[in-house]
Amino acid sequence: MSDNIVKYTLNERDIPRYWYNIQADLPVPMAPALHPVTAQPLTPPDLAPLFPMELIMQEVSTERWIEIPDEVLDAYRLWRPTTLFRARRLEKLLGTPAKIFYKYEGVSPAGSHKPNTAVAQAYYNKKEGIKRIATETGAGQWGSALSFAGALFGIEIKVYMVRVSYDQKPYRRIMMEAWGGKCVPSPSPDTNVGRMMLAEDPNCPGSLGLAISEAVEDAMSRDDTHYSLGSVLNHVLLHQTVNGLEAKKLMEEVGEYPDIIIGCAGGGSNAAGLFLPFVKDKIEGSRPNLRVINVEPYSCPTMTKGPFAYDYGDNAKMAPIVKMYTLGHGYMPPPIHAGGLRYHGIAPIISHLLKLGFVEARAVHQLETFEAGIMFARTEGILSAPETMHAIRAVIDEALVCKKTGEAKTILFNHSGHGHVDMNAYDAYLSGKLQDYEYPDEKIRECLADLPKVG
Ligand SMILES: *Cc1c(COP(=O)(O)O)cnc(C)c1O
Repeated sequence: MSDNIVKYTLNERDIPRYWYNIQADLPVPMAPALHPVTAQPLTPPDLAPLFPMELIMQEVSTERWIEIPDEVLDAYRLWRPTTLFRARRLEKLLGTPAKIFYKYEGVSPAGSHKPNTAVAQAYYNKKEGIKRIATETGAGQWGSALSFAGALFGIEIKVYMVRVSYDQKPYRRIMMEAWGGKCVPSPSPDTNVGRMMLAEDPNCPGSLGLAISEAVEDAMSRDDTHYSLGSVLNHVLLHQTVNGLEAKKLMEEVGEYPDIIIGCAGGGSNAAGLFLPFVKDKIEGSRPNLRVINVEPYSCPTMTKGPFAYDYGDNAKMAPIVKMYTLGHGYMPPPIHAGGLRYHGIAPIISHLLKLGFVEARAVHQLETFEAGIMFARTEGILSAPETMHAIRAVIDEALVCKKTGEAKTILFNHSGHGHVDMNAYDAYLSGKLQDYEYPDEKIRECLADLPKVG
């Protein structure tokens, strides 16, 4: 009964051999990244203390297809290719004529899409003789993905984890340690900036910006150590296209092309990884009606309320200045927000496509997001990460529009990960402790007053 098929899978031999680089096909090139101190265009030597040269070159490459090294393909084989699902039970519950498909990335060892870039980054660092990588992590998803990758390639991983999360969310720290990573609460006594913060306030709760500063200082102060970032950058989005290329092949096998593609967006890597190979068709003109929706929380409304402007990548002004939609590098996530996706900016590639009109953005509220996540759990079975629930909310809303209009649209979304270590957030929702929160316009104006002055 082919009518009832819900899972579509590729053979292991069909894992893509190349990542897709959208920079080859942009009708207008992107604005260059700038040095955080001089505000002059960054050169590869500026970045060499932090990243291996192959990643620096990928960051600015305009080559359309970039070969995936065999060692990275071997690592991908542990969980790739991932399955494309048709959400028939959700469709039935909604009573929609829409066909809903999702690509499920929660089957990776770390439980999300993040290992797609973590293993590639660990590989290129290993190849350049690097022994150690320092990074930051908020709730711990990136720290755990990179620790897993470090285990595969024999690289020591040092993770600076925001202190409040370190204290309140121990499970991802334990995952990091199980894979051999070393995780410390940030601020830590291991760096100058950490020691300074601790001297000022021994109970400092930390922030992502501070953790970035510690990881960057660590990497700058040792020859054997580099720094790594799990989202936002062009090379990260590039690595994530392995998923979109698989999805494209699978949709071809199903005989469908999506009318709408949806993804949740924090820094933008999982959404872009799925949609970039399809956006190529829209840019080339063969799929002019394709709609792509990036979904963010109202509590961090980067794309829906922020300007497209040059801003620092981090609070501490140590990361490059990039042109992106931003709430200002001083943005502080409200404590009431449980759903992740808290970065103040969004990937320059997504920003550029949004400005050019090739993709859209939408904000959703926290309670409707968890409501959607629970509907998904009770039909499709997967307990989604709270981040992923943002995409699911938008999918359900689009499917309900189809119910009204009677259109049988094909909707594809990226299911970025499971929520098995996010049970506190589930508990908070199920026991009625979560509320909606909209980031106030005055606060956005305050943060935006501090954007760098760029010529
Ligand atoms: C980190 C994470 C995100 C957000 O990051 P992007 O770079 O925007 O993809 C979304 N979903 C899950 C499950 C994550 O772990």
